[in-house]
Amino acid sequence: MILSSQVSHATIRREYGRLTDGLDFFVPLQPFPENYLLKMSWFVRKDKGIQTPTEMKREAPDGLWYQCPNCKQVMNTREHKLNAYTCVHCNYHEKIGSEAYFSILFDDNEFTELDADMMSADPLKFVDTKPYPTRIKTTIEKTGLKDAVRTAHGPMHGLAVTVAVMDFNFIGGSMGSVVGEKIARAINHAIQNKTPFLMISRSGGARMMEAGFSLMQMAKTSAKLALLDKAKLPYISLLTDPTTGGVTASYAMLGDFNIAEPEALIGFAGPRVIRETIGKDLPKGFQSAEFVLDHGFLDFIVDRKDLKDKVVSLFRMLV
Ligand SMILES: [Zn+2]
Repeated sequence: MILSSQVSHATIRREYGRLTDGLDFFVPLQPFPENYLLKMSWFVRKDKGIQTPTEMKREAPDGLWYQCPNCKQVMNTREHKLNAYTCVHCNYHEKIGSEAYFSILFDDNEFTELDADMMSADPLKFVDTKPYPTRIKTTIEKTGLKDAVRTAHGPMHGLAVTVAVMDFNFIGGSMGSVVGEKIARAINHAIQNKTPFLMISRSGGARMMEAGFSLMQMAKTSAKLALLDKAKLPYISLLTDPTTGGVTASYAMLGDFNIAEPEALIGFAGPRVIRETIGKDLPKGFQSAEFVLDHGFLDFIVDRKDLKDKVVSLFRMLV
């Protein structure tokens, strides 16, 4: 043990510098107290290395708790999942993807996925901060998804339904050729098998990297939905947070019923663009599902916990 009276400030600084080597947050404002090393003994690891054998270590299971980003309260992940990924305290609807929606909607999570392996080409040789094919490849690796929509058919309360769900994690849920083609093929499947069609949208709009090809998907999906209508098969469109751009301007607003999740952002252009265009401040709650409902764009807002029941009873009414 070093006695404080035997050490100079210079030694202490050198010693401390060694202990905190590699840490740059420590900026001493005053000289260290004389007996600093004695006071700091808790800080000095006396034994080298970590002494706990691996078999003795207890791992805290990952993802056991979920903290609501809205009310900041904590709940059990399992409880949150059983509550259809909505907060048990404030009913905040967590943004979820196709996998979660499929598990909520299909009986016993049994479904058959359509065109699961369809992937995007690079028709325009597009490069932004990186080439489009590289972006697609890294996004596939990161998300485990092939593109921004997954389509499937299966039973919902015993009723065969074709469902398409968008994934926002995949390049902002942007609509490119693959999204359009998969939705068109899902509608074909619905027509051939005489099933109702449910579309769940969550999207930032058309995919920049496919430019004009993205915009063509609006016409393509709309034309397919007209064929579905001709076959007298019902279509429900659910708009979730956020649904904007070319998706709002095409299939998301063409349902026999257009419904939305609570507080979802729904719009075409963003609020900043609109404010600058009309030169006026926007009303409170502008572009929220509740505002859009009040102004006649939606039929109703559905709590995710009631989604399956409501959609199936509507389909049974319409078929
Ligand atoms: Zn909450």
